Amino acid sequence: MKCPVCKTEELAASALEQSLTCRHCERCGGNWIQSFEYWKWREQHKDNLPENLLDPDDVPAHVPHPKTGALQAKFCPECSSILVRYKVGHGVNFSLDQCGNCGGVWFDKDEWESLKGRNLHDDVYTVFTAPWQAKVRTQESLRAQEELYRKKFGEEGFEEVKRMKEWIDEHPRKQEILAYLMYSSR
Ligand SMILES: [Zn+2]
Ligand SMILES: [Zn+2]
Repeated sequence: MKCPVCKTEELAASALEQSLTCRHCERCGGNWIQSFEYWKWREQHKDNLPENLLDPDDVPAHVPHPKTGALQAKFCPECSSILVRYKVGHGVNFSLDQCGNCGGVWFDKDEWESLKGRNLHDDVYTVFTAPWQAKVRTQESLRAQEELYRKKFGEEGFEEVKRMKEWIDEHPRKQEILAYLMYSSR
């Protein structure tokens, strides 16, 4: 089994968790998890851990390692099918690569630890589902929209508008306030 990133390096059997076997690349630090190994481990951890979003400082920072051609397609070390990229979202800045044929998953160096820090390591296969991916896209477009307004209003102006918006959104007379803002400014 060859590393999908380094291409030539052999993957060696290793333990990612106490009962989770993976194939590890010594050179790039990546890990390959076969789907049955993941589900075997998941079976022993039936209770889904609540997502931990609270202390981003406690979560090991994910340092994307210098990939030669990060956009280059990766291929499954087991069945040679192309690996499909799925954005994790939820504040995680990397994608996971899954084989559409055999279901194995590739984690670049530190990605498993980074997911684990957020309790997302037990949701890996949920990340690949359509509803999760749809939510990631919605979050992304909201963020892009916010970025656009931030540029338009300036940092300080944007924060002020955001504060006003939150106040208005929660106000029982929201509709009237909006009408006032729209039509009484002249
Ligand atoms: Zn490698
Ligand atoms: Zn495969």
